[in-house]
Amino acid sequence: MRVVIISITPYKEKDGIVNAISSDGTITFLVRGLLGPNSKNSALNTNLVIADIELQEGNFKYPVLKSSTVISSPIKLTNDYYYLGSLMVINEVTKNLLQDEEKTLIYGDLVNTIETLRTKSDPWMPMLIFLAKILKISGYEFEVNKCVFCGNKKDIRTFSFSDGGFVCSSCLNKDTERDLSKEQMLLLRTIFNADNSKVDSPHCTKENALFIFNKFITFISDSYGFVLKTAALLNK
Ligand SMILES: [Zn+2]
Repeated sequence: MRVVIISITPYKEKDGIVNAISSDGTITFLVRGLLGPNSKNSALNTNLVIADIELQEGNFKYPVLKSSTVISSPIKLTNDYYYLGSLMVINEVTKNLLQDEEKTLIYGDLVNTIETLRTKSDPWMPMLIFLAKILKISGYEFEVNKCVFCGNKKDIRTFSFSDGGFVCSSCLNKDTERDLSKEQMLLLRTIFNADNSKVDSPHCTKENALFIFNKFITFISDSYGFVLKTAALLNK
């Protein structure tokens, strides 16, 4: 079974209880000796590792790992700060914003995003597209092809997280957030319309990425009541 590891909890002295997502659902299993210095499974002790695992049922509450093969590890030779920060954001939102059955739905995007991030020189677009997928899977859809109120495709003036998408000039009211540039609105359109994180997305500057990222963070805090601890990493 192929899985993506999303959390590791130490158990007893050197064992680890691992939570992971597969295409069939989430799974929790015990890895004996995971945290020991000579563990042959030590590569599994990293979030977002993709691995093939074989489990066996025993007397323990969870199945126990029998064997594993690591398919890919997010650890690269040159670990860029923002690359690692983006991985930690992706890990935290996957773990905390989705119900177990929703995690199955993000599995394919999660694997694609981890692999895309490994090969890209900057993490911004894949990370933002992944955040948009998380919102979508948990029920938040945004209109980025026409005005969310009247359907007008012209005179789009802003993107409003609280209204749920683009707003045209005739539907604007004085309280509508209007702090996005045209470029940022186009980026949001690409981010919400992307159906595969592997598509070649336009370049996004760090400045624009963080502006949009912080809009997501505010929305997540307002709508899910969840404050992302890893958000501060990217805002350095
Ligand atoms: Zn309108």
